[in-house]
Amino acid sequence: MKADPFAQLKLLDVAEIDARILQQRHTLSHLPETAKITALQAERKKIDDSAIDARTTRDDLAVAQAKAEKDVEAVRLRRSKEQQRIDAGQVSHPKDLERLQAELANIDRRIAVLEDEELVVMEQLESATATADEFDAQVAQLDAQIAELAAARTERAATTEKELAEAVDDRRVTIAGLPDDLLGLYDQIRARSGIGAAELRARQCGGCRLSIDAGELSRIRTALVADVVRHEECGVILVRTSESGL
Ligand SMILES: [Zn+2]
Repeated sequence: MKADPFAQLKLLDVAEIDARILQQRHTLSHLPETAKITALQAERKKIDDSAIDARTTRDDLAVAQAKAEKDVEAVRLRRSKEQQRIDAGQVSHPKDLERLQAELANIDRRIAVLEDEELVVMEQLESATATADEFDAQVAQLDAQIAELAAARTERAATTEKELAEAVDDRRVTIAGLPDDLLGLYDQIRARSGIGAAELRARQCGGCRLSIDAGELSRIRTALVADVVRHEECGVILVRTSESGL
């Protein structure tokens, strides 16, 4: 194939733009924040499961504490009623009084036991509340981190999409006027190997970075400037410049 040397030179600009487009598309499909967010969400799920358990334990203990308080209250009320009967002189018979005072002593012991039980439940509730609060704080902290990363991801995606649109626009302008057959060949090679054209620089292929062997070099030297030369090793269009070392 033959092509205007200027058109061939222009392929280097197209290749540079295509490399940018490739990089930007890769960035968009592999936004670094996405992997971090996924990892944090897995961590959040684990902690949130623990938080749910801790909240259930706390709520159960709150119910138990309310019940213990009510039990103590009920027995205290009973005691005060009995005491009122004595104070009001309603119990006149000494035998009845004796029996009632024994009953009051019984009630006092019962109150002491119930109060001890309530105290234990209160201590457990306090500890369970602290644990649940700690888990809730960890979940909240992770939520804040995830939100921050999501915002950064949105920003990075927007910036990259803008750059990508600019690059696509650059490409459209740059390929305008290039011969169809040259561009067709370039696109075909690029579709296959990722790079369509590269500079032959200091006897090295800019595409695969291999040095051009002597035999191929002499073939390139004898080629016309209008000949489209390709690297035998990797297939890219080798664009000759003053830096090619020919
Ligand atoms: Zn090569």
